[in-house]
Amino acid sequence: MGTLFRIKLYAAGEAEAQNGFRAAFDRVAQLDAKLSDYNPESELSRLSQTAVDRPVVVSDDVFTVLSTAQSLARDTDGAFDITLGPVIRLWRVARKADRLPDPESLRRAGQLCGYQKLTLDANRHTVRMDRKGMQLDAGGIAKGFAADEALAVLSKAGITRALVAASGDLAFSEPPPRKKGWTIGVDSLDDAHAPFTKIIVLANGAVSTSGDTEQYLNAAGKRYSHIIDPKTYLGLTNRISTTVVAPKGIIADALATAVCVLGERRGLAYMDRQPNASALIVSKASTVPVVVQSSQFHRLFGP
Ligand code: ADP
Ligand code: MG
Repeated sequence: MGTLFRIKLYAAGEAEAQNGFRAAFDRVAQLDAKLSDYNPESELSRLSQTAVDRPVVVSDDVFTVLSTAQSLARDTDGAFDITLGPVIRLWRVARKADRLPDPESLRRAGQLCGYQKLTLDANRHTVRMDRKGMQLDAGGIAKGFAADEALAVLSKAGITRALVAASGDLAFSEPPPRKKGWTIGVDSLDDAHAPFTKIIVLANGAVSTSGDTEQYLNAAGKRYSHIIDPKTYLGLTNRISTTVVAPKGIIADALATAVCVLGERRGLAYMDRQPNASALIVSKASTVPVVVQSSQFHRLFGP
């Protein structure tokens, strides 16, 4: 999944800890082999060849990720879209070449995108794609899911106090001994060395931050993010970073990406409607970053 996973855990002894780490990292490796879009042999990548115009049975893991993605796509009016693969690839090449993607290529790639072109069947556990050339990209949801699954493996092994971090996607169970929760710092927009925007203490849940990362392209006086607006196929140019708290990493990860696309106003309105999730959004229209929080976030973590 192109990132580093870290696990912190409390166990009865050295052997239990080692076993826990091994089982959890094995599970992450297994999911990477299924979901990575960097690997053309992953189950997800292979669907581009096998599932065009015909339903293909997929594993439980792939089905979970795709069905969660589709339901969030419908719920966010397409802000989260797992079918953006062809467009995301053009932007990846563009970042390497340090040059904007050619508009005509982008337009053609865009015609192969759209979550409505992906059909799932929950009874048969199948996936079908409407167009040749479609590619699924789970980059905005897979890390959160993998964090959940690593945590589940640990819990099965009897380790109930753990935190799994896949760069900006965290999932955690019971707090460290004698603590009320895991202490999590939310980074400020510009500078990794600046003080945290907010410090929250949480247990049994997930936190994901998306947005203004190292991954962007500077061109024509604008800064294009690696998060794509599915309506324009362009990288976001509004400076925004979203932190979402949710019961599961798979939801927190995808929602953090979606809220960046929705932007501060619509994103906040959307998050205010969620009964089980909340968000902190940092945006920067001019020089000063502005921080807003959804109402649940206020309730849980104060002003
Ligand atoms: P990060 O990878 O920095 O943790 P995200 O969770 O926001 O950040 O994921 C961004 C990745 O999600 C992109 O690199 C791309 O693979 C994918 N992506 C980009 N735009 C969208 C979108 N609108 N919907 C779903 N996935 C997206
Ligand atoms: Mg995400």
